[in-house]
Parts: sequence; structure tokens; C-alpha cells
Amino acid sequence: MAQAKGTAAKPKKKRRKKESQQHKTKRVLLALAIFFVIFALDETGLLRAAFGTPGNVYASFVLYLVPFAIAGHDVLEKAFNNIRHGKVFDENFLMAVATLGAFAMVLFPNTDPHMAEGAAVMLFYQVGELFQAYAVGKSRKSIADMMDIAPDYANVEDEKGVLAQVSPDDVAPGTVIVIKPGERVPIDGVIVEGATQLDTAALTGESVPRHAEVGADVISGCINMTGLIKVRTTKPFGESTVSRILELVENASEKKARTENFITRFARVYTPAVTGAAAALALIGGLVTGAWSDWILRGLTFLVVSCPCALVISVPLSFFGGIGGASRIGVLVKGSNYLEALSEVDTVVFDKTGTLTNGTFDVVAIHPEEGIDPDYVLSHAAYAEAFSDHPIAISVKAAYSGQINRELIRDVQEESGHGVCARIVDETNAGERVVLVGNDKLMDGHGISWSNCELTGTILHVSVDGRYVGHIVIADVVKDDAQAAIEALHGCGVSKTAMLTGDRTEVAAAVAEQLGIDEFHAQLLPADKVARVEQLISAEGKREKLAFVGDGINDAPVLTRADVGIAMGAMGSDAAIEAADVVLMDDKPSNIARAIRVARKTMRIVWQNIVFALAVKLIILVLAALGIANMWLAVFGDVGVAIIAILNAMRAMRVEGSR
Ligand code: ADP
Ligand code: MG
Repeated sequence: MAQAKGTAAKPKKKRRKKESQQHKTKRVLLALAIFFVIFALDETGLLRAAFGTPGNVYASFVLYLVPFAIAGHDVLEKAFNNIRHGKVFDENFLMAVATLGAFAMVLFPNTDPHMAEGAAVMLFYQVGELFQAYAVGKSRKSIADMMDIAPDYANVEDEKGVLAQVSPDDVAPGTVIVIKPGERVPIDGVIVEGATQLDTAALTGESVPRHAEVGADVISGCINMTGLIKVRTTKPFGESTVSRILELVENASEKKARTENFITRFARVYTPAVTGAAAALALIGGLVTGAWSDWILRGLTFLVVSCPCALVISVPLSFFGGIGGASRIGVLVKGSNYLEALSEVDTVVFDKTGTLTNGTFDVVAIHPEEGIDPDYVLSHAAYAEAFSDHPIAISVKAAYSGQINRELIRDVQEESGHGVCARIVDETNAGERVVLVGNDKLMDGHGISWSNCELTGTILHVSVDGRYVGHIVIADVVKDDAQAAIEALHGCGVSKTAMLTGDRTEVAAAVAEQLGIDEFHAQLLPADKVARVEQLISAEGKREKLAFVGDGINDAPVLTRADVGIAMGAMGSDAAIEAADVVLMDDKPSNIARAIRVARKTMRIVWQNIVFALAVKLIILVLAALGIANMWLAVFGDVGVAIIAILNAMRAMRVEGSR
């Protein structure tokens, strides 16, 4: 992952942390070994035999200090430094006070000694810390592995035809690179030579390879499986799909979920509260009964329980796992907050063209006006659409068999939701014609009368120099899994699905009917779509969220406005990736329901951990106050709960049906 932008300084920092991690493991293991030897000597009465009573107590005091210091000196140091900076209630402080307090019980010669507990609390606390570090490292790594799509090099051919491996960062757009079978595509581009099968699984979770030949776009991150291809790069590495995805994944953990913030705030209150309770318990109990050592010990046990580690670590870890799990099915979630929102989605609103439909229109019919050649209508439409990336424009250009001479086209204006207007130079007499291509609204807007069409389909009216020349009827195909997607959403508890489109009412009605969508709104301009979504948002409950799914063409504002903006087409539109909160890597609407399931599972795990950790702590607090729980139980409660919560959190990463 080192190639991703802005990571130049990172490796060094990581390595330093890693070394100390290894060192810490050794240190804690050594301390544990010493501890058990002393514990055995103590329990078997050998110390008493050697030093007599009470000499054995002082001997074990000194002996237990050794593993305590080896394992815990860093904790004591941190606690001391934090106090100087005014940060008292952190876990280092709690552990320092609880363990030193246990050792200090030696000052009460009439009670049982508690040095073993003091040392043990510190040791197991450190074991828990190591386990946490390991779990975080592991889930980081598995996300990194899963997202291990960063290429190390690109093969560039020099003038003599010799291949050289260069860093992808140094390859300028327009360079021809060679990708051999088995290599990863390093940079987005277009195939100029060769044909092959591409494995896109790392990006989309889709396991069926796709065929690609000359002229096909290839995106970085795919694996070239069968043939050698030459690709002309279309983007610099930094803007290629791979870099953008890595950036998204790296930034995802910065956007915190409500639950995460809640836990952080909760810990800030919980810890001082329990610490206060510990002091009060020791003081009041001691004053009332006079059994100071007993009550101080109960107070110290409280301190151990007051450590919020299990919550503080497992909640973000669960979200992290959920984001990782989603990415395995080709769904990129840009932050914990969006994963949380996704779990509360109740209404899903779809854009039609390019989202529920393929966005590749076939020309069904050309209906010219009296005395006009159909080819005249189509060629003018294709010319006017020459510079547009709208799915309609792309399809019209595909249907036109002739060459488009772009130099003849002037002043193109695309009115989103309406169509296009352009001036086209006539080569024969060097004059110019104003061509309009678009829907009823565009024609009405220019005061051009148009004739109706009896066919169902999207109608493209064409006018030349203010004269209506006819219309082109085009039809789009519904995506293979669109119907399954709607069913799956209804099946997973989404109560309303809706479709918004700028297309004609007839077309919208047909698609909605075919797919089983609850409601639809047609002939909307981009701004109308935003208004509709706002209406739908205000119609639903406070806890319920609305997701909008679009392809980013003419609907980026809606993606931003929805509670959760889901973009189709990481394979295409940059605007969509920018504006969206969730990106579906393979344009499959059925992945939305799966993503919602992952989100809900993650939230379940998060709440299981919160409830479990708090319940165990509460029970131990009550038992400790009653004098039933001792420090042994408290430390096992603390470290044990943390470990169980962490293991539970790592479940979020496993997703059914992923690779
Ligand atoms: P949708 O909401 O289905 O994604 P759009 O908002 O992108 O559709 O477009 C709505 C309508 O505007 C289209 O059905 C078409 O009639 C017209 N339109 C938009 N862009 C173009 C274009 N480039 N050429 C012709 N017509 C267009
Ligand atoms: Mg659209």
C-alpha cells in the first residue's frame, strides 16, 4: 500500500511501533514467567520456610515488585506523565493506582498480603493491551490484503522495444504500457493491442472474468489473466481507480459513527464516576466499620473495573470490520457514520437511467417529418451529442455509422434534464445550423412544436434551425439483477422503494411496474429530484434513513442531499464517487441489500459488545462492593471481556458470499 499518496512518512513510523510491540511481548512474557515462579514459591510455602513469618511477606513484596516493574514500568511512567499534563482519568492512571494500592496493603500487617494481585493486575492488563494491538493490526492487515490492489510497477516499452519496469507514479497519461498475463493493471487506460480476460474480483467481488479487447477501457486493480495487452493510459496513477479506492479506504476510519462518539463520551463520564465511587466506598466503609484494609481493597477493585478498554477498543474495531466486510462484496463505505446510517435505511430511492437500467439505449425507430431523410435526423443528433457523456448521447453516437468531425461543432450547451443545443458548420456552404436534441421540455423551451409518438420509449426530438425535423425513439434495458435488488430490499425490511427519473411518464411507469417499485416520479429536472428526496425524507421517521442510488450523471446533488448517497459506477463517473457516501464497485443494485445486511450485522455486534461489557462490569462492581469479588475476578473480568469483545468485533469482517 506504500504507493498510495501521502504515505511517504508512514513506513518509518510503523516500523518503530512494530519493534516496540515485539519488545513489549517479550517483556510481558518474561514478567509472566518470573511471576509464576514467585507465585509457586509463595503458595508452596517455600518462602515461609526460607524467611519465616513475617519475613516471607517482605520477601514476596520485594520479589513480586520485579515482574511488576518489568511488565508495568511503562504504564507507571505514562500515568505519571499524564498527571503532570492534567489528564488523570486514563487507564494508565487507574492501573497504577490500583496496583500500587494493592502493594501498599502490606502496610496493614493484620490482613492477607495482596502483592500477588497487584502484580497480576498489571500483568494481565498488559496481556490485554497486547491482544488489542494484535487484533487491530490483524484487521488493518486483512483490509489491506483485501485491498491489496496497488501495483508495484508498470511496464513501459522504450524506442528499441525493450521493456522497463517503472514506478506507476512516473507514467504520464497517454503512455503505452504493456501488461502481461498474471500482472495487475497498474493504471486506467484503453487497450490498443491484444485481447484478454480480466479478473475484477478485487474491485467488485465479481468472480466471473470479463473479456476485454482493443478499444475496451481497463481499470487499474484488475488482474490480466490470459493474454498480453498493450494499454494507452488515460489518467495519471494518482487519479486512477486504484489510488482513489485506497484513499477512500484509508480515510474511512476517520468518519466516526454516532455510537462511536457516544462511547467515547460515555467512557469520559464512566471512568471518573467509578473512580469517585471507589474513593467513597473505601472512605465511608472504612469510617463506618473501621475495617480499613478490607474497604480499601474493595475500592481498588472498583478501580480495576472502571477501565473502559473493552468498549473503547471493540466499538471502532467492529465498524472497521464492517467496512472491511462490505469491501469484500465490492461495496465501499466511506465511514463508520455511513455504515451506521445504512443500517437504519427504510426508504431506498433509485435514479432510473444507468442505475436500474443499463444506460445503453438502442435506437428503436426514427420518425422523420414529411420529406426528411431519417439519416438526416440521426446524423444531426449524433453531431449535437458529440461532446456529451450522457448515456443517451453515447447510444445515439453508437447508432450513427458515419464519422463525426468534431471540428465542425461549435458552442455546445448541455441543459441537464432537457437535452443539448449546438451549432454545426455546414461544409458545403460554410454556413451554420443550430441543432437541438432533447425532450418535450427542450422543444417547448425554444418554442418549437413537436409531434407525439405512439411508441413507448425515450423520445429524442430533433430540430434544425428552429424547424422540427423528427424524433428518434430509443429504449433502455432494465439491468439483469434490478428486479432481484428490489425484492431483496423489501425482503430485508426496507419499507419503501421509489424511482425518480427525468424520462417520460410512460417509460417510468413501465419500468416501475416491471420491477415492483412502490412509487415513481417522472419528468423531473435535477433540481426537482432534490425536492422530491427532501419531501420523502421529511415524510419518514426520525430514526429512519433514506438512501438514494444514482449513477452521478445529473444526480450528484441528490446523492449529497440523501441521508446515504449510494453511487453506481465506480467504473465510471468521478462525480458520483465524490458525492456519494457508499460506492457500489460493480454497478449491481442487488448489492445494496447485502450492504444493508452487513451494516445491520455490524450494529448488532457493536451493541452486543456494549451491553455485554457493561453488564459484566456492573456485576463485578456490585460483587466488589459486597466484598465478594476480589481483584483477581476484576482483572479477569476486564481483560476477559475485552478479549471476547474484540473476537466478537472481528466477526463483522466475515460476510456471507464474499471471496
Ligand atoms: P434519469 O433521471 O432517468 O437518469 P436524466 O435526468 O439524465 O435521466 O435525463 C432526463 C431526460 O432529459 C432524458 O430522458 C432526456 O429526455 C433528456 N436528456 C438529458 N440529457 C440529454 C442529452 N444529452 N441528449 C438528449 N436528451 C437528454
Ligand atoms: Mg441518470
